Amino acid sequence: MREVRPIPANNVSDTDCDCIVLGAGAVGLACASVLAARGVDVQVLDPRPAAGGVMQSERVDGYLLERGPNSTLNTSVRVERWLAELGVAEARRFGPQAASKRFILRGGRLRALPTSAAAFLRTPAWSLKGKLRLMAEPLIPRRRATTEECLADFVRRRLGQEGLDYALDPFVSGVYAGDPARIAIDAAFPMMVDFERDHGSLVIGMIRTAKARKADPDRPADRTLYAFAEGMQQPMVAAATRLGDRLHLGVRARQVVADGDHLRVESDGLTLTARRVVCATPAYAAAELLAPLSPEAGRLLGEIEHNPVAQVYLGYRREQVGHPLDGFGALFPSKEGKLTLGSLWSSTLFPNRAPKGHILLTNFAGGARRAEIRDMDPVEIRNQVVEELAPLMDLHGEPAFAEVQVLPRAIPHYTLGHTARIRAIEQALAATPALHLTGNYLLGISVSDCWKRGLLLGDALAG
Ligand SMILES: Cc1cc2nc3c(=O)[nH]c(=O)nc-3n(C[C@H](O)[C@H](O)[C@H](O)COP(=O)(O)OP(=O)(O)OC[C@H]3O[C@@H](n4cnc5c(N)ncnc54)[C@H](O)[C@@H]3O)c2cc1C
Repeated sequence: MREVRPIPANNVSDTDCDCIVLGAGAVGLACASVLAARGVDVQVLDPRPAAGGVMQSERVDGYLLERGPNSTLNTSVRVERWLAELGVAEARRFGPQAASKRFILRGGRLRALPTSAAAFLRTPAWSLKGKLRLMAEPLIPRRRATTEECLADFVRRRLGQEGLDYALDPFVSGVYAGDPARIAIDAAFPMMVDFERDHGSLVIGMIRTAKARKADPDRPADRTLYAFAEGMQQPMVAAATRLGDRLHLGVRARQVVADGDHLRVESDGLTLTARRVVCATPAYAAAELLAPLSPEAGRLLGEIEHNPVAQVYLGYRREQVGHPLDGFGALFPSKEGKLTLGSLWSSTLFPNRAPKGHILLTNFAGGARRAEIRDMDPVEIRNQVVEELAPLMDLHGEPAFAEVQVLPRAIPHYTLGHTARIRAIEQALAATPALHLTGNYLLGISVSDCWKRGLLLGDALAG
């Protein structure tokens, strides 16, 4: 992926501007690009050498490696319009029909998840007892207590133990790298709480609200999964290029302090003051940046946990792989006791992910359930993941390509108390209306949620 060259901090004189955006990830760049397009004098700071935050794409030995997200869902017309404005809408590559097939590990075998009611009745992915319990969901009385509930208890109550172990747990491990016993249902899946409270059932809630959801003007006609021809960083590079010298890469903001009715951002070699500051960094970075403004907000932001994830990229010659790899990939429930959380079949999903005659598997390991991955030797991680995958996918011989990347604080964990904590952070910062807090630890971690949040904030600030 093309990189936007860093502008050394000492080339920029200390200056006043209208808005400073801290963080050039999905949220920060979406917000800043709207502000810039609407003529707002915006400056963006980020310590990384390239734009996009965790969205970094790199071609190594002919394989296109995604260092962060691999794809996202088309969920917003506002996002579609923005991608068109950036000139990258045409570069989107939608997942093929095969991508709708997903596998789950159960009893030492990969089993395809059912995609129809008839297939659900036949699938060996759940026992007969488990299926009957899932089907009984509309009959389960709604919970009366109003205390906070963890995802595991909620799902066990409504869908049964097997529904938790072989439906929700692998999904949560795959998306959040999280622990269902610690995730707060109201923070991570508020819609499920609404369905139970308003309709008495998840299934009935989904059916009854389907019409209203379809009528949402921001809902695209086609909600397919997509990536970009040059990788997920492509739209981020397009946004960064448009920002030009308003984007200061290689510059880490140190602290935000009040300066009359303005805010001052102090960084090494660069001090900027502005009427408004958007803090779009991860929560742990915001904790340090905002502590001078509000020690309480800093303390609470620092309490937000992040789960570690290791990505194990494996390339094989096609003939080394017995499995047809005819799907999106496979998820590994905690019950199966593996280090691997899931395996994404990247070269099945999108073209140009692997050299001709080769395949690419992007595998995820660790997460909350195996947080010790932070300290494991990458070679050990690689060997263990290969050992776990080989019998399941019929892999033969040494991989033609292997690389491991460990992200110690990859994904925010929406643990019990998250909603109250966010409310308390907002209260602690209420006396500083010039500061706008945003990021993936608020209301959803997916790329499309992050982009939409950044765009809407940009719209509001520019308006
Ligand atoms: C491994 C992985 C796989 C994922 N897979 C998917 C997927 O397949 N699909 C999907 O939809 N989502 C996925 N996600 C989630 C999604 O990619 C992220 O939630 C989203 O990209 C986060 O965007 P962000 O802007 O909030 O944060 P970030 O991308 O973390 O950006 C924040 C920026 O703030 C900068 N910063 C930090 N400190 C400072 C400072 N002091 N001053 C200035 N800037 C600072 C950082 O350098 C960074 O660039 C994945 C995430 C990870 C980590």
